[in-house]
Amino acid sequence: MIPELNEEQKILKKNVREFLEREITPIADEYDRKYHPLPKDIALGLLKKLLPLGYIGSTLPPEYGGQGLDLVSYGVLGEEMARAYLSLGMILMMQDGALLPILLKDGTAEQKAKFIPQVLSLEKITCFGLTEPDVGSAARDIKTTAVPDGDYYVINGTKTWITNGGIADIAVIFASTDPSKGARGISCFIVDKAESPFATRELPKLGCRSCPTSEVIFEDCRVPKSNLVGTLGDAYRIALTDLVSIRISVGMGAVGLAQAAIDAAIKYAQERKQFGRPIGSFQLVQEMIADMVMMTEAARFFCYQAYYLLGKGEICFREASMAKAFSTEMAIGVTSQAVQIHGAYGISEEYPIERYFRDARTLTFPDGATQIHKLIIGREMLGISAFV
Ligand SMILES: Cc1cc2nc3c(=O)[nH]c(=O)nc-3n(C[C@H](O)[C@H](O)[C@H](O)COP(=O)(O)OP(=O)(O)OC[C@H]3O[C@@H](n4cnc5c(N)ncnc54)[C@H](O)[C@@H]3O)c2cc1C
Repeated sequence: MIPELNEEQKILKKNVREFLEREITPIADEYDRKYHPLPKDIALGLLKKLLPLGYIGSTLPPEYGGQGLDLVSYGVLGEEMARAYLSLGMILMMQDGALLPILLKDGTAEQKAKFIPQVLSLEKITCFGLTEPDVGSAARDIKTTAVPDGDYYVINGTKTWITNGGIADIAVIFASTDPSKGARGISCFIVDKAESPFATRELPKLGCRSCPTSEVIFEDCRVPKSNLVGTLGDAYRIALTDLVSIRISVGMGAVGLAQAAIDAAIKYAQERKQFGRPIGSFQLVQEMIADMVMMTEAARFFCYQAYYLLGKGEICFREASMAKAFSTEMAIGVTSQAVQIHGAYGISEEYPIERYFRDARTLTFPDGATQIHKLIIGREMLGISAFV
C-alpha cells in the first residue's frame, strides 16, 4: 500500500508537469484537431523532446540502458502526460510497453542486444498486435497463423485497433503456430517492417484522434525464426503478463485525463459568473467538483497500488483490472461533469473539455473492456473462471 508519493516522486511530478505545461499542453488541442493521426515525423519530434524525461525504458535495469525507475514514479510520468495530451501518452505507452518488457522477460541475449537500443533511441517505433477483426475479448481465439518455412515463419492474418500500427517499424505479433492447441498454440514474433514488410490502414475514431490506431495486415510475411520470442506456444502467457502493466498505464492515463478535467472545471467555476456570482459558489456545482475529486483520487490510489504490487514482483491481475476498469469508467463520468460545469462551452472546440470527454470514452476498450476486467476480478475473488 502506498499512502502518498515520496519526496522524490513529488519533485518528479512537479518538474514533469512544468515541462509538459510549457512544451506540450499549448499544442495539444491544435494537433488533436489537425492530425488524425499525428504524422510520423511530428510524432517522432515530440517523442524526442520527451525522451529525457524517462518515458521510454526508464524502468529497465541500467545494464539495458534504463534508470531502474520504480513503477509508481513511472505512473506519475504517465498521469502527467495524459493530463497534457493523452494521444501522445498512448503513443509513448506503446513505445515503452509493446516490446521492452517482453524482451526483458522472454527475449534472447541477441534479441535484447539488437532491439532494446533501437527502441530506446526511437530508431524503431513499436506496436503490439493481439486483437483481430473477429477476435477482441476472446484473445485466445486468434486466427492469424505463423507457419514454419526453412529459416522463416510465414505470417498471414490481420490485426486491428493497433496503437502505433501506422507509424510502427516493429510489430510485436501474436500468431497461432498450432491452431489445434488453442491458447497453448499461440507464439510471439518480432516483425521488423524493414525485412518483413506489412501493410497498415488507419482507423479514424471518436477520441485519442491524434494517436495512430490501425489495422495491420500480414500477407505471406516472412519473419526470421530468430525473431520468435520465448518458446513456441507460450505466448498467451507472454501477452497476459505484458498486458498487466499496460492495463495499469491505461488506468493511470484515465486519472491524468480526469485531473485535467478537474483543473479546468475549477478554474472555470471560479471565473464564470451567473446570477452575479461565480458559478463555483453554487452548492450544486461544488457537489460536482467534490464528486469529481473523490472519484479521481480513488482511481489514482487503485493505480498506484497496482503499480506498487507489480513493482514488488507480484503479477497482480486483480489490482491491475481494478485500476483499469475503475479508472477508465471514472474518467467518462468526471470528464462529463466537467462538460456540465462548462455549460455550452463544454462542447465547444474553444476549450479542451470536449477533447477530454471524447478521449475518456475510448479508454474502456484498450487492454480489455470493462466487463472482462470485472470477470477477472470475479475469478480472482471466487476462484471460478467465467470464461468458458
Ligand atoms: C483506442 C484503442 C486502442 C487499442 N490498442 C490496441 C493495441 O495496441 N493492440 C491490440 O492488440 N488491441 C488494441 N485495442 C483493441 C482492444 O484490446 C479491444 O477493443 C478489446 O479487447 C475489446 O475487443 P472488441 O473491441 O473486439 O470488443 P468485443 O470483444 O467484441 O466485445 C464487445 C462487448 O462485449 C463485451 N463482452 C465480450 N465478451 C464478454 C463476456 N465474456 N462477458 C461479458 N461481456 C463480454 C465486451 O465487454 C464489450 O462491451 C485497442 C482498442 C482501442 C479502442
